[in-house]
Amino acid sequence: MTHGNPTMALDPKRTVAELKELRALTGDANGAQRVAWTDTWLKAREWFAAKVRTLPVEHHYDSAGNNWVALKGASEKSLLIGGHLDSVPNGGWLDGSLNVLAGLEILRRIAAQYNGKPPVTVKLVDWADEEGARFGRSLLGSSAFAGTASVAADRIRTDRDGVRMEDALRRCGVEMDRFGEATEGHKNASAYIELHIEQGPVLERMNIPLATVLGTKGVERHAITFHGQEAHSGSTPMNARHDALAAAAKLALEIRTIAGKHSDSVCTMGSVKTFPGIVTAVVGRCETALDQRDLDPAVLAQMYREAREASERFAAEEKCTVEWSRIWSIEPIAFHPRLLELCDSAICEVTGASKAHRMPSGPLHDAAEVSRAGIPTVMMFVQSLGGISHNKVEDTKEAHLELCVSAFDRLASKAMNFVAQG
Ligand SMILES: [Zn+2]
Repeated sequence: MTHGNPTMALDPKRTVAELKELRALTGDANGAQRVAWTDTWLKAREWFAAKVRTLPVEHHYDSAGNNWVALKGASEKSLLIGGHLDSVPNGGWLDGSLNVLAGLEILRRIAAQYNGKPPVTVKLVDWADEEGARFGRSLLGSSAFAGTASVAADRIRTDRDGVRMEDALRRCGVEMDRFGEATEGHKNASAYIELHIEQGPVLERMNIPLATVLGTKGVERHAITFHGQEAHSGSTPMNARHDALAAAAKLALEIRTIAGKHSDSVCTMGSVKTFPGIVTAVVGRCETALDQRDLDPAVLAQMYREAREASERFAAEEKCTVEWSRIWSIEPIAFHPRLLELCDSAICEVTGASKAHRMPSGPLHDAAEVSRAGIPTVMMFVQSLGGISHNKVEDTKEAHLELCVSAFDRLASKAMNFVAQG
């Protein structure tokens, strides 16, 4: 019973075909349109539900709208495999869906191999609203699962048309008051694995198809405002200016040096507003925002300190003052050491490499929330072409898609053993 029928073996080509099917059903000339809590997203979920119906599984939606497919095993201890069918508007065909459809293929393989009753329970979860594209709140379903949801702040969020988040969710059968019940999903959850496209250029540049993800980087995000003095552009000598933009500009260059001291750090000043914002006045006030990320909490704290000190130095040089306020932060999440090793060996077995590449993830993923809930977690990345994602041109070589399904399947088997032994 434990060794399956070869005709029911893993079929990575089917995953690629199903990704194309989903793209045809829920995309248009501008890309994927599976924005959470919209009709197109519900259509994707119905399509998925029909696929699942042929398997010996239990299918249900939890109180936060997460979509669970459970293959009950001899033990209730569970391996969780996650992804998200939702996309950003005009999104790519792989972000989130690859994880779900690879997970579906693996579930088919496990169901066939063990005649519907594996040694441990295996659950596939399609998280609700990973992207936060409509209401600006990412990782919504997985944060409800983790118990870190911010319901009071989120329910009153509105979309571009003024529709309240609470109402949009209710239309899909989800009551935000009941979000707390989603933590029931922790029960017997002993490991979580997630496959994802890299969404960056690193693996392509290294010419490597797959990597083990060490964790998700922590984020420090701050609003920084420089205060100077508005003055006439014609009458104010260069040495008599309090130019808030000059101070901000120095900081925008300095963050490259600050990040450059560490191999995987990133710092971005993504917005600048000047006041009064006319060419005939020296800038009296400059509002900027800084996003800093690293996997190491000590490095992140150091980068924050250095940026703050530099901003004070540049403010003084330009006879200005500076003010900081935190917009948002999240601590770095390091994945589980034993699962990292299992992911390495899954990659090596499938690619023939002697050593798997390991890298942190700059983008956040649902895996970060699951890990925060205390469940041993790991992610696997597959190479992205051109490092482009959240865009209709997002792509990965088909050979690499097939390879990642095989490697992720190996990881699932190893993680089932980990769950059984744990
Ligand atoms: Zn994603």
